[in-house]
Amino acid sequence: MILGCHVRMNAPDYVFRSVQEALDYGANALMLYTGAPQNTKRVPTEKLKISEGLDLLKENGIAPERIIVHAPYLINPANSVKPEVAELAVEFLQSEIKRTAAIGASYIVLHPGSYTTTDLETGIQTVIEQLNRITDIPEGIIICLETMAGKGSEVGSHPEELAQIIEGLHSPEHYGICLDTCHMNDAGYDISDFDGILDRIDSVLGLENLKVIHLNDSKNPCGARKDRHENIGFGTIGFDNLYAVAMNKRTEGIAKILETPYVDGEPPYKQEIAMLRSGTFDPQALTKKAGS
Ligand code: FE
Ligand code: FE
Ligand code: ZN
Repeated sequence: MILGCHVRMNAPDYVFRSVQEALDYGANALMLYTGAPQNTKRVPTEKLKISEGLDLLKENGIAPERIIVHAPYLINPANSVKPEVAELAVEFLQSEIKRTAAIGASYIVLHPGSYTTTDLETGIQTVIEQLNRITDIPEGIIICLETMAGKGSEVGSHPEELAQIIEGLHSPEHYGICLDTCHMNDAGYDISDFDGILDRIDSVLGLENLKVIHLNDSKNPCGARKDRHENIGFGTIGFDNLYAVAMNKRTEGIAKILETPYVDGEPPYKQEIAMLRSGTFDPQALTKKAGS
């Protein structure tokens, strides 16, 4: 089972410390933001302790493509109302691609963005136009468009929308998708029928284009279009359904990344990974949750 989680990447040890953090949790994959998720300020890659991090991964038998980069969520390539916003997104992505390659990772997860005051079709066309401005994507780098909850004017809450974007791109071979279970639940998909979801992705995109899974429970009922993540087993999707996703044979080679909320200021990942590896939900494992 390839299980990982969102880890921090902070001074002074950056990627080296990120890898250590993931290993502490019993993870064999990890996802990081190359700086604060809310802004686009970035430290030069030479300072990120990348080779130390990669050595540590190697010592633990983990391939570099198990490091997944998440683009900051404020960048919005779907915004045609303020084109400078979408343009900034592309400029940033261009440099994020270089950082991802420098880290030795392969996958960059990207939210397609929100169309704001226009309409879905305009949003989709704007994403296509903007992403087509990206040039020189290095061999092996895949930008993974994430399935979204459909909150507000988000683009990408159905696999068909992501397929339409990828079909419009000049280098579709550099794109794939990231499936987020909380987002899909909130967009109206029943996670207990995960094979049905995979069939749908297969028919519109080809299952080989599914590169990353975000494994999160949801605070809201199916179809709520909200996007609030919950700890594994404590939400509306439930432990058994998330465990079934983690165990699904068709997605065996795909990293499942937890992006569940901290509990009492502490990361929940060690306990959640242990529960998923053992297949047993322990409602006492996360202290505050147990009491609530
Ligand atoms: Fe995301
Ligand atoms: Fe996600
Ligand atoms: Zn989310």
